Amino acid sequence: MSVLEADEAPGRLDLLRQLVNTLDLPDGPDRLATPDEASVWCRERGLPPVTNQNECDRLRAFREAIRDVLFANNGEFEASRAWAALEPFSPRAPLIVAVENGAPVLRAAGSGVDAVIAALFAIVYDAVAHGTFARLRACRKSSCRFAYYDRSKNGSRAWCSMATCGNREKAQRRRRRERA
Ligand SMILES: [Zn+2]
Repeated sequence: MSVLEADEAPGRLDLLRQLVNTLDLPDGPDRLATPDEASVWCRERGLPPVTNQNECDRLRAFREAIRDVLFANNGEFEASRAWAALEPFSPRAPLIVAVENGAPVLRAAGSGVDAVIAALFAIVYDAVAHGTFARLRACRKSSCRFAYYDRSKNGSRAWCSMATCGNREKAQRRRRRERA
C-alpha cells in the first residue's frame, strides 16, 4: 500500500483531507492562494469555482477551521471550541435534502464559495453520521497538522508520518518530561 492510499479517507470524506492539505505548514505553498488556483482545485473535484479574492479568503478560513476540528479529533485541541469556529460559516452555506437514486442526500443550495462550503459541510455531516469522521485527523505535531485518515486497527495513529513527525515529536516530549 502506498503512503497516499494509507492516508486516504473513504469516499467523499477524502475531499476534506485534500482541502486541509492544500496548505503545507508551516510556510506554504498554498494551493488556494488566488481565486484562479482555488477555482482549479474546486473544478477538479466537481465543486463550483470561487469568483473573487474575498471568496478565496473565506475558503481558506474554512480550511483552517476544519484543520482545528481535525486537530481536536487527535485530542490536541478543544473540540467544542473547534466546532464553534465552524458555526459562522454555516448560515451562508445552505443545504437542502434532495432525493437521488431512491435515497435522501444533502445538496448545496447556494452558489460560488457558499456552495463549496455547503458541499463540504454535507460531507462532514455524513461522516459524523457514519462514524468515520473521528478518524480524519490533523498530525499531532503542531507545526505540521497535515491531515490523514487513521486506518490503524485500534484508531491510535497520531502522526502524519512516523519518520518525519512521530519520532521527532516523541523525542521532544520525552525531553520535556525529563526536564519537568
Ligand atoms: Zn506531521
